[in-house]
Amino acid sequence: MRSFFNQFVPAQDCLLCAAACGRRSLCPRCEATLPQLDGPLCPLCAQPLPGGAQHPCGECLRHPPPWQATLAAWRYGFPLDRMIQALKYRHHFGVIEPLVEPLAQLAAARPLPDALLAMPLHRARQRSRGYNQSLLIARALSGRLGVPLLHHACRRTRDTRPQAGLTPTQRRSNLRRAFVCNPCVQGLNIAIVDDIMTSGASLAQLSGALSECGAQRIECWVLARALRTGAS
Ligand SMILES: [Zn+2]
Ligand SMILES: [Zn+2]
Repeated sequence: MRSFFNQFVPAQDCLLCAAACGRRSLCPRCEATLPQLDGPLCPLCAQPLPGGAQHPCGECLRHPPPWQATLAAWRYGFPLDRMIQALKYRHHFGVIEPLVEPLAQLAAARPLPDALLAMPLHRARQRSRGYNQSLLIARALSGRLGVPLLHHACRRTRDTRPQAGLTPTQRRSNLRRAFVCNPCVQGLNIAIVDDIMTSGASLAQLSGALSECGAQRIECWVLARALRTGAS
């Protein structure tokens, strides 16, 4: 992956402090400030658990999510939020390598899925942005882990409003029936790859569509987990 991305990433300054940092997007000092997701974490939603518990959190016990596990590399907060925005909106592909590395390590320590699936963007949004950041992240993981990446297995049928700023209920209704999957997912263990998990509403909708098409097991792999308000 390093060589693939380096073909397109010129030498640059650190995204955060402007120190020269070669082809990486962050200098080592800024990289050390990235917000860690300190464990133990809920195995289903990757929220930190109080007191060293190893079971699902109360929220997942009350409302079990439609997937079997979540892996998250970072806590969504400064300065990582700036890096993900730079990836999403300003073509800063150099942030992928440092952010993907720990997620690949987490994934490699467990049984690997049959295939990866990037969270799809609606065609209109992909056309205006020029690329799907989740697909770039998934491609990097696929290359590192040797797990195939599914293409055309699923599409987003509605160009839903951006989820930021919506309440959890609004997020769910915004996304209703937003995905259509292809029967090629039948019987597969699939990891959905996305940049951030906030409420998990998009991941839940996509998981539901995959399950309806017969996917056997679904995991969510995200770069960053936004902590629930009040999560300890
Ligand atoms: Zn720096
Ligand atoms: Zn949970």
